[in-house]
Amino acid sequence: MLVILMGPPGAGKGTQAERIAREFDLLHVSTGDMLRSAVKDKTTLGEKAKAYMERGALVPDELVIAIIKERLADTDCAGGVLLDGFPRTVEQAEALEQVLDDLSLKIDAVINVDVAKDELLNRLTGRRVCRGCASTYHIKFNPPRVRNICDHCSGELYQRSDDTVDTVKERLDVYSKQTHPLIEYYQRKNIYHAVDGARSIEAVFEEIAAYLEKSKIKGN
Ligand code: ADP
Ligand code: AMP
Repeated sequence: MLVILMGPPGAGKGTQAERIAREFDLLHVSTGDMLRSAVKDKTTLGEKAKAYMERGALVPDELVIAIIKERLADTDCAGGVLLDGFPRTVEQAEALEQVLDDLSLKIDAVINVDVAKDELLNRLTGRRVCRGCASTYHIKFNPPRVRNICDHCSGELYQRSDDTVDTVKERLDVYSKQTHPLIEYYQRKNIYHAVDGARSIEAVFEEIAAYLEKSKIKGN
């Protein structure tokens, strides 16, 4: 199975991806996580991506397409993948189709999680992420059991440097201009499903899981 989880920054993609990947035995592939690791490790890719990420811009298509192309060819992707944060432009979506064609794979479902802008701002500015396993929390809406400590791996939680009010506003603008057009792109295909993300984490999860269950049956 290859599933794309789309939506604006803060919609809950990462939160849902963790659960969906576990439930459906898919590998969670997040370009944001991959790029943050590259920045942390000061790789060539990280050095190139850093400034774009810090100001809330998208990293150039050719860099992101190259890392996804390499990642999807890895053997651990053969059991099924949940893509989170990719594609983010029509160019990336077109490149993904080419990469999947070459690997004899296809997209089974595109899930778009949508949430209104004011709520996105609240979610992103209160987000905390685990330094160890990248699990996501929220200081009010989804706090860890122990303050600043990850429930899963006891890692320290931190606030992403792009989760400040000004950078979040820039990222939401970038989303409207560059990523939102992808909705129409995928709506034209019969694999698109929109989910109202302004509900509890559990309710959103139940809807996505039910849809994927159906797609799995359809695909068999
Ligand atoms: P994305 O990966 O789409 O940028 P995240 O999954 O990181 O978004 O979620 C953004 C923030 O909102 C996190 O702090 C997360 O804990 C919180 N969050 C996610 N889903 C919900 C929800 N349904 N209700 C309230 N808060 C949520
Ligand atoms: P995310 O973790 O998905 O919120 O992504 C964090 C940042 O990484 C974004 O603001 C972009 O700078 C960069 N990024 C992640 N995925 C992509 C992508 N598919 N295309 C371009 N930039 C990306």
